[in-house]
Amino acid sequence: MSGMSNNSVISCLYPNKCAVCDEIIREGNVFCEYCGRVINNIDYRNWCVKCGLPKDVCRCKIREFRFSGIVAAYINSGAAQKAYYSYKIGRREELAPFFAKKAANAVKTVFGDLHFDAVISVPNSKSGLLRRGFDHGGKIAAGLSDILGLPYLRGVLKVKPFKSKQHKSSFADRLENVRGKYYTVKRLNIKRVLLFDDIYTTCATLDECAKELMFAGVGEIYCAAVLSTSRKKKQTGVNNGN
Ligand SMILES: [Zn+2]
Ligand SMILES: [Zn+2]
Repeated sequence: MSGMSNNSVISCLYPNKCAVCDEIIREGNVFCEYCGRVINNIDYRNWCVKCGLPKDVCRCKIREFRFSGIVAAYINSGAAQKAYYSYKIGRREELAPFFAKKAANAVKTVFGDLHFDAVISVPNSKSGLLRRGFDHGGKIAAGLSDILGLPYLRGVLKVKPFKSKQHKSSFADRLENVRGKYYTVKRLNIKRVLLFDDIYTTCATLDECAKELMFAGVGEIYCAAVLSTSRKKKQTGVNNGN
């Protein structure tokens, strides 16, 4: 090895860029000044912990879940969405610790009174892994467990191949798509776990995974994610195309 650390070699090759707009920024920062200011941080005083949405768009009356609570680091829109996609799609893997820290902070803020025994993550399909070239969710889940000082039970949940894609399907379709998609291979005598997925919209995937974990012996499941997709309340007379 030369005297140069791995990190400094990387930063010479790739100057530090804002996760949202690609402007060159000081090393150690994630956002430029502007993007850091406009990014939509969540006010957890107005957070519905049951459905993982801001209270004004809470959907608890429509649906109940098997998990006991859910929190996200950001709402899936604007600067936060751009930043996360530059990690996940743009493969800026160096952003994983940042998103892990944001998810950990969300967990500490909302579930600070709870003791968790382990972190488990929703697995990626093999085709997704091949397409993206890295385990984007697993990387953040590992970082999250490090920060929270919990064991990360990698590979506890498994995914079957050949289920249709979830993207842009209705809630009923999503529910059908994920049913039976995930499974566990061993008995888990664990009281309370933190289940991680990177993005949730209907929570159908997290709910299905929570069911499997309960079957396997987990007592209680709480969920954490990077992005919560919040559908805005429909305005009367406006067709938003959905
Ligand atoms: Zn920026
Ligand atoms: Zn709710």
